[in-house]
Amino acid sequence: MGITSPTGIDRRDFLKISSLAALEMLGGCVPIQAATSTAELVLTNGKVITVDPSNTIAHAVAVKNGKILDVGDTKKISRYVANNTQVIDLNGKTVTPGLIDAHAHLPFFGLRENGWFLNLQGMRSKEEILDALAQKAEKTPNGKWISAWGVESMSMSYLNREDLDRVSVSHPMLVVFTGGQWGFANSYALKIAGIDKDTPDPPGGKIGKSFSYDAPDGFLANYPALNLVRKHMPLPNEAQSRDALLYAVRRYAAEGVTMVHDNFFSLGTPHFHRAYFDTVRSGQMPLRIKLWPYIPNAYIGKRVQYALFESDKLYPRSKINDLISYKRKFPEIFNSLWGGFKMAVDGAGGGLWYFNPYAIPLHTPEELHKMFGIFHKAGHHVSVHAVGNHAVDQILDAIEHALGPRTDSIERMKRLAVTVCTHPQWLFGWGDKWQGLQRREDAIGVIPLRSYLKRNITVAMGADPPAFPIYKPQFALWQAGARVTRDGYRYDPAEGISIQEALRAQTMGSAYAGFQEKEIGSIEKGKQADMVVWDRDFYTIPQDEIRNVKAELTMVAGKIVHRSEETSFF
Ligand SMILES: [Zn+2]
Repeated sequence: MGITSPTGIDRRDFLKISSLAALEMLGGCVPIQAATSTAELVLTNGKVITVDPSNTIAHAVAVKNGKILDVGDTKKISRYVANNTQVIDLNGKTVTPGLIDAHAHLPFFGLRENGWFLNLQGMRSKEEILDALAQKAEKTPNGKWISAWGVESMSMSYLNREDLDRVSVSHPMLVVFTGGQWGFANSYALKIAGIDKDTPDPPGGKIGKSFSYDAPDGFLANYPALNLVRKHMPLPNEAQSRDALLYAVRRYAAEGVTMVHDNFFSLGTPHFHRAYFDTVRSGQMPLRIKLWPYIPNAYIGKRVQYALFESDKLYPRSKINDLISYKRKFPEIFNSLWGGFKMAVDGAGGGLWYFNPYAIPLHTPEELHKMFGIFHKAGHHVSVHAVGNHAVDQILDAIEHALGPRTDSIERMKRLAVTVCTHPQWLFGWGDKWQGLQRREDAIGVIPLRSYLKRNITVAMGADPPAFPIYKPQFALWQAGARVTRDGYRYDPAEGISIQEALRAQTMGSAYAGFQEKEIGSIEKGKQADMVVWDRDFYTIPQDEIRNVKAELTMVAGKIVHRSEETSFF
């Protein structure tokens, strides 16, 4: 609630009104000779890629109070330099707006990097994976969990309970697909979870059953089934969660990223939201963050309302107590962090809803409609995981990934003004496994960037770590044009976009996805001074070099949050 002035006008409006009145008075009786403001920081003598509406290239930027005071040529900007102004001579170097990753999972990314999960990404054979699990089992006391993440095979019968039992019967074990949506448990883990031949499939999930044994085969599809096991596994403690988060954001800052959206922030893991809120409050968080807590499908329909904090029945009260008290005590921090809610319609890999008869959608269409209605009424933004074409069709109010939409879906996206958050770097990392998608008659193409832009559909970009192994945004900027897999297969080059367009998606497009296009995403007067100095110029280097460009300085609101060791500045 705003503080009310004696006249009854909200204090913020009151101040605005009085300062306007003062300006008018000045304008009326004083010769117009505005004193030039003094900048705190000036970047000069560089190539400033502004990403403004006309793609202006400037040469210098002045910063005051964390915002862009002015942008233009070096001479114009030099007017803002005073004795106490910090001046950085860019020496011809390139500056862009801070890059925005519109889809990541930061604490999980940090946990993958620091060894909480055994990381299986990049392992090419089943033997290699089973070996790594066996080595982990040797070092793990009996009875303790082995939690592995990163199976990259799309096959949902890649592993089974017996494979894992051969590794160990004295450790409970869960091995999860890289996207996190499905996985495999050994007998010990199934036993702890109480899963046997009589256990029914949870809504939206599936427990794999072997026909020959009439028993669970270890395969668990979708979060509701995985969660039957996961709820028995240890969670990282408060310090581990905070360390994982800070580790992840520092890695991002070092790659020129100034803002990250966490699209699978779990309300059921209180240490994670404590880590986010506490690091922001204490000033340790170097980047801007938006959180999109996941609404599990097990809580459908009416119960979704409880997630809007109108009741405490969705999550055990103890788990969201912190969040509710943050909302009350620190509304500004809460509002700056809060994005909206995240939902999922399908899984990934073999589980994506490509009119695949075996894929299990997480919601029925009726549930989806109901949930959207509730979110809409409560004024919450919604972001949705929808990968397969059927899933994309189901969900065209707000959308993510959209790997292979159908031609008519893309027309609907345009009509409904959805923002597509996609990941061109996946073409490089995983494209070799997807060549089947390319041949589908009804699909417009895989990550059809040109088709989106042609229809004026806003494209945002995010790397999606740890689901995708490479978090560096340079790979997205490169692959948005190159569309080439690790093995050299080139996906429909006509769907490629220019580096200028790719940079716009990774800045303005992602800002738009967070409803922040007026505050961040370009270097324009009045916007936040989120900028990056790079060691090379994205616009003039050969396309294949884009992936290797390094951030020398990253700044958020004019404050330097990363400085590379090789940098010539300071
Ligand atoms: Zn994701």
